[in-house]
Parts: sequence; C-alpha cells; structure tokens
Amino acid sequence: MSPPIQASDRQAEAFPVLNPAQIKRVQPYGKVRTVHAEEVLFEPGMLGMACFVVLSGKLDIAVPSLSGERSLVTYGPGQFSGEVVLISGARALSRGRVAESGEFLELAPDALRALIAKDAELSDIFMRAFILRRVMLISQGWGNVTVLGSQHSADTLRLREFLTRNGHPFGYVDLDRDKQSQELLDRFGIKLEEIPVVICSATQAVLRNPTNQKLAECLGLTSRVDTSRVYDVAIVGAGPAGLAAAVYAASEGLDAVMIETVFPGGQAGASSKIENYVGFPMGISGQELSSRAVVQAEKFGAQMMVGEKVVRIQCDQRPYRLTLENGALLDTKSIVIATGAQYNKPKVENLGHYEGQGVYYAATFMEAQLCTGEEVIVVGGGNSAGQAAVFLAETVRRVYMLVRGKQLSDTMSRYLIQRIVENPAIELHFQTEIAALEGESHLQRVTWVNRAAGEESVHDIRHVFVMAGASPRTEWLRECLALDEQGFILTGRDLDSALATAPVKWPLSRPPQMLETSLPAVFAVGDIRSGNVKRVASAVGEGSISIHLVHRALAEG
Ligand SMILES: Cc1cc2nc3c(=O)[nH]c(=O)nc-3n(C[C@H](O)[C@H](O)[C@H](O)COP(=O)(O)OP(=O)(O)OC[C@H]3O[C@@H](n4cnc5c(N)ncnc54)[C@H](O)[C@@H]3O)c2cc1C
Repeated sequence: MSPPIQASDRQAEAFPVLNPAQIKRVQPYGKVRTVHAEEVLFEPGMLGMACFVVLSGKLDIAVPSLSGERSLVTYGPGQFSGEVVLISGARALSRGRVAESGEFLELAPDALRALIAKDAELSDIFMRAFILRRVMLISQGWGNVTVLGSQHSADTLRLREFLTRNGHPFGYVDLDRDKQSQELLDRFGIKLEEIPVVICSATQAVLRNPTNQKLAECLGLTSRVDTSRVYDVAIVGAGPAGLAAAVYAASEGLDAVMIETVFPGGQAGASSKIENYVGFPMGISGQELSSRAVVQAEKFGAQMMVGEKVVRIQCDQRPYRLTLENGALLDTKSIVIATGAQYNKPKVENLGHYEGQGVYYAATFMEAQLCTGEEVIVVGGGNSAGQAAVFLAETVRRVYMLVRGKQLSDTMSRYLIQRIVENPAIELHFQTEIAALEGESHLQRVTWVNRAAGEESVHDIRHVFVMAGASPRTEWLRECLALDEQGFILTGRDLDSALATAPVKWPLSRPPQMLETSLPAVFAVGDIRSGNVKRVASAVGEGSISIHLVHRALAEG
C-alpha cells in the first residue's frame, strides 16, 4: 500500500489488512472475481458500487480533480476498497482501477450490509475504515464535486454549508482569490453572473447556482428511496429526534425512510458544542453527533432522502400518503413527525438580503472562520445564543450580545451564564434590539436600539448571529392533526379534551398512545410536540420511544 494521504496514527485503522481467518469469514458474502491490470471496477458517480477485498493483485483508487485525476491509495492483499457511500448508497466518489492482475472478492452492497449486521468484529473494522477514509477525504477536500464560488455570495455559503453538513467531501475554488479563476470559468463556459457553480464529476454536470435539491440529486443523496413500495414508517425531519427514530426503526427491522429538507442535524447541527448530552463530558458538536447518527441509521438499513420537503399528508386513507415538494408520493403505514422548529427572525425589513452575507443562523466553525478578529453581534438570550457567544468569543475581537428582555433566559444553563458574564470579550446589552441593517451586497453597519433608554446607536459590524429561539411550522398539518394554540402538535394525554374537535375523527376504541397524535400510527416527537423540553436528549429519547409505539400501532393492522 502506498497512501499519499497524510500519515497519522489512524492510518492503520483507515487501511486495515484482514487476516486469513477474517477473509474466510467474509468469503461466503462475496464472489471471487478474476481481474486484469487496467480494468476499471467502479467510476465516480456510479450507484450501487461493490466493495472489493483484494485476495491477490493490487487495486488503485483515485478521485477526480479539476486538473485530471488524483491517486489516493493502492490496496494490496487483505485490504478492501470503499468508504461511507457503500453504506449510504450515494454515488461513488472515486475510481477503482486494477493495478496488478489477481483475484478480488466482490461484495454487493446488500451482502456487505448483511456482513456488517452479523459479524461484530468485521463490522467494527469495515465501519471504522469507511468513516476514517471519509474524514480524510473531507479534510483534504477530495470528492466528486467542486464548488467555484465567492466569499461575497450568499449562495456559495449555502452550497458549502449543504455539502459540509451532509458530510460530503468537496473541493472549493474561491474565484476572488484563485489566480487561474478566469481560465477555469472559460474552460467550463461559465459567466461571472452564473456563480456559484458546482462541477459535479459524479454525473458530469456543470450546475449553475443549483438548488439544494438539484445538488442532492447529483450526489445521489436520495437514490436509495423507492417510491413504489409501502414503508413501515416514514420519519419526517432528520434532527436529533428523527435521527434517533431512524436508528431504532432500522435496527429493529422496520422498513424505514427518512426525509429531510436541508441537512441532517436540525437545530442541534447549528450548535458548535453540545455540553449537556449524556456521555460526552468534553461536549460534542451538533454536526458530529448528527453525522454519527446518519451513518448509524444507514448501517442498519434506513433510507435517507435529503434535500426534499414533505408538504402534505393524505390522512383520509391507510396507508397514509406523503407528498413531497417535487411531487413524488410516498406510502407508509406509520409516520413519525420530527420537524422541530424553525428560527425566529428579528423584524428587520431587509434581513433576508444579508442572509449568508453577514446574517447567520448557526455558529459553527464554518461561520466563525468568516469573522475571525472582527466584532460580531449575537441576537438572543437563551441557551443557543449563549453557546454561540462563548464559542465566537474564542476567535472574534468582541461579541455584543443583544437580549430583548431584561435578563438572560431563565432556561439558560448556569454554566453558560457564568462563562458569559466572566468573559471580557462578551458585552451584554439587555432590552436591546436590532433596528436597521445596511451595506451593499455584504452587511456593513448595524443600528441597534436600547428600548429602556430609547437610544439608537450605529456600529460598523459586519456579522450578526441570530439565535432568537424557534417556532413550529405546522401549517401543512392543520387539515389532519390537532395542534395547540401555538401550532405545536398535541399528543397522548394532551389530546384528552382536544380529540373530539380534531380535524379527522379518531377511529379507534383505544385512546392515543403517548407521543401519538390525533391520527392513529402518526407520532410527533422532539421540538414539534406540544410540551416539548427543547433539549437534544429529550428529542433523542422521544424519537427512540416512538419506534416502540410504532411497533404496537403496526400490530393493530
Ligand atoms: C444553536 C443551538 C444550540 C443548541 N444547543 C443545545 C444544547 O447544547 N443542548 C441541548 O440539549 N439542546 C440544544 N439546542 C436545542 C436542540 O438543538 C433542539 O431541542 C433539538 O435539535 C430538537 O430536535 P428535533 O429533532 O425535535 O428538531 P430539529 O432539531 O429542529 O430538527 C428538525 C428537522 O426537520 C427538518 N424539517 C422541517 N420541516 C420538514 C419537512 N416538512 N420535511 C422534511 N424535513 C423537515 C428540518 O430541516 C430539521 O432538520 C440548541 C439549539 C440551537 C438552535
């Protein structure tokens, strides 16, 4: 093996060599294939790629790049090909070419999944290698897509965020800085006004400012979902609650599909560090937690559809039918609604103009990079605002925390309050709100008003982080489900007095189970549920419990 990837302690785990006893255990799952030098076994963009265990001979792996092809690694006897796409079912990132004739053991995706499900030791070796290889590809920016964009474009940030939060490796060319940018634009026939552009080697497409949905299609993020069959359970939303439901549903043998509009992780994915989740004494970023959960759910066979939105439930029929924004229909015997809540936005007229251009709704490493050494504003007085302020204060010059109320939220954790108050880089302003935003394409100036003193002040600040809580978006459910006054979904005993007036008559002699909505076999979990506690752990708990209840509901027929 000759890996040009940076050497590290993890190299051996990323590129393990199976011993003869382990190969013997893999053998029943695959078929032996005689291969010849120069034979191409898989190409970037291919769906349903197999995993190859080298018995004799050698296999070269390379990824496409703007300048041709980049060699990644050569596998020898005992080693195996593949990374996370073998589990997710997305399009292949790399090309596999036989470097030396020999015999390879070919494992089709289903066979690999069966091996991983049945053999704990091999599962550990394969999964660890796949994940570490993906991490290496992400850190090097080596994948099957390249974004050509500009720091000054909100859509560039959107596309980079979509790829990053979906854990997809990609190359990025900043056209403002890259010396060869004009040559690149000419080569692909791109006009300046068309950027950002995504060169998708997976499908040989040049996508001009694509929607998230189009980009998801090019990556194959939706490819394993089969709209022609009836699923046991459809999980709507891939925040902590939906991800937990997917892990339990798939691991307990249910035929599960999960649909997510943007990227897995939900609100938690916007958190730089979750410090109160059990078992992570050093904290864990929301993104890391969710990417682990995605691989876990997919390992057990859950199917994911990313970049798609559920816009309707047809609730006058069983199985229920979900309509997606692209018009596709999905039939399912049960539903877990885990659509959480969406960010509240300050009432500033031109806020939308600066979204991604100085106004952000997440404070992760990516946004922090954009404002290193500058002054920033964090809007909000709750846990998420507090976390963002403390995180940003590590790299920015000053954080102005604007809180509408007279104090930090009662629900803010004690440790956070202490860190904010004691941090000299954080300046708290109570009873203060943003009044105006100014700037050309990027935000340049912010006016804020102190309501107590009636004073307005103008500041040359280019970055505002909005962390002002979230509200449910349940308009699309109104015709089917009983909601509370704020629009959260009523479940279980909370329906006692509301069931009689629910939009659809409850048809069963038993009352709704815990977490069950006013429709049988339809559950609501996490932040979307009336009475939720706005915590990652409770969302995960509810998502997990809901699957136990789904089993019961399915048993009713
Ligand atoms: C910045 C920040 C920091 C936080 N920090 C902490 C913390 O440290 N500790 C803690 O316990 N809690 C924290 N929270 C709260 C915690 O993140 C939430 O309670 C939790 O994420 C709720 O999970 P959920 O799965 O119910 O919903 P969400 O996380 O809101 O996820 C819902 C998902 O559903 C998707 N969706 C919505 N509508 C549709 C549709 N129609 N079709 C398909 N998909 C849809 C959304 O895109 C989203 O991905 C934080 C929140 C924020 C914003």
